[in-house]
Amino acid sequence: MTDQRKVKGGKPSAISRKIDWFESDCTLRGRNVPVLSDFSHKEVAMNGTRDIMVVPGEWHIRYQYAAGKVGTEFFRRLRDDAKIMATKCPKCDLVMLPPRGYCERCFVPAEEWVEVKDTGTIEACTIVTEQFEGLPKPPYAIAYVVLDGASTAMINFVSGVDLSDVREAAKILGIGRRVRVAFNKEREGKITDFHYELA
Ligand SMILES: [Zn+2]
Repeated sequence: MTDQRKVKGGKPSAISRKIDWFESDCTLRGRNVPVLSDFSHKEVAMNGTRDIMVVPGEWHIRYQYAAGKVGTEFFRRLRDDAKIMATKCPKCDLVMLPPRGYCERCFVPAEEWVEVKDTGTIEACTIVTEQFEGLPKPPYAIAYVVLDGASTAMINFVSGVDLSDVREAAKILGIGRRVRVAFNKEREGKITDFHYELA
């Protein structure tokens, strides 16, 4: 294990512990771990060429899932009241968005609902320039935003930014940029009932 995988104070992070476990497990089994590059080399050796075949495929999947008690309340308030509601942990005061039924830190039920503000700060952002099935025509921007009053970030589309020059747009959509929530007039109880705009 290299020092780079350690967090401050020399304690191994969760990721480094996983890597340690993975490495020790593989060592114990006494065999090399196949990695992606190994498979690529084998493929090249077998074919005697670097031309790897690409096989077209199609998946068409429509499905429904139960939003659960917490998800249902979140989407209902979004649709009926144009409000973004989070759940709050009674023990550590973590305000979770999207809301969760249990605190991810304390493992206690989080039954108190709190409304968060419609303004927030970008924590991470990306501009998508490739077409993905079922998603809008690119380019479009998506961002994780910590809304004021929440402890955690929620992802959604960002509109109102000129994306014709991706590098310039990326400068505008940087971490720390303030945004506000814009609700659709007609809401259906879906996460796309709102999006972010630059504040
Ligand atoms: Zn908690």
